[in-house]
Amino acid sequence: MSESQQSSSQTAKPVTAFSSLALKSELITNLDTMGYQTMTPIQAESLPLILTGQDVIGQAKTGSGKTAAFGLGLLHKLDVKRFRIQSVVLCPTRELADQVAKEIRTLARGIHNIKVLTLCGGVPMGPQIGSLEHGAHIIVGTPGRITDHLSRGRLDLSHVNMLILDEADRMLEMGFQDAVDQILAEMPIERQTLLFSATFPKQIKKMTESIMYSPKRVTVKETH
Ligand code: ADP
Ligand code: MG
Repeated sequence: MSESQQSSSQTAKPVTAFSSLALKSELITNLDTMGYQTMTPIQAESLPLILTGQDVIGQAKTGSGKTAAFGLGLLHKLDVKRFRIQSVVLCPTRELADQVAKEIRTLARGIHNIKVLTLCGGVPMGPQIGSLEHGAHIIVGTPGRITDHLSRGRLDLSHVNMLILDEADRMLEMGFQDAVDQILAEMPIERQTLLFSATFPKQIKKMTESIMYSPKRVTVKETH
């Protein structure tokens, strides 16, 4: 009897519990529903920094949970009452952008009317133009299509306070550097920038030096 009492009293709450972070209560509820019980290593390392508003470079393999790391940071920071584009997530492909948008929408369930709009190439412009006229809080898309809307004056990025470059190495491999530069030029300099990448070649290092402010670098080498 006393043995079992002792063992239960020794069960400490793991430091990787999402509830150890000061996240909006809806986010904690949604994580629970999604079956995310503890943070993955990249989430545990990067989220506390992201939540304090720092620029973060996150390096971890595919499948390590990078989407929720930046998705939670983005949703926590978002001011739902301001119906302006406040965050932009850049992804290398439409498939990845769709996955990211889906995860953000799931994480955002129950938070009053958060509008996530995807803007990717390979689909007709018409519906995207219509959606842009209705407005959004968060844009997830590929750099080419976003610059397309920018150059036609359909996208106002002047209220963006968070930029996320997801799979930055692949974006540069695909030749999106110029498009990324054009998008950056339309955003306030005073913003939080997060960059995620599986690898960290020289070109990425150079990019982080020019577009980020004193970034903290988090590297997770996972064995699985
Ligand atoms: P990455 O972007 O690093 O490749 P993803 O964000 O796509 O990884 O996540 C990989 C998988 O892990 C997804 O199926 C996602 O639902 C799941 N996942 C992410 N974070 C957690 C967590 N804390 N607990 C359980 N599953 C998670
Ligand atoms: Mg990913």
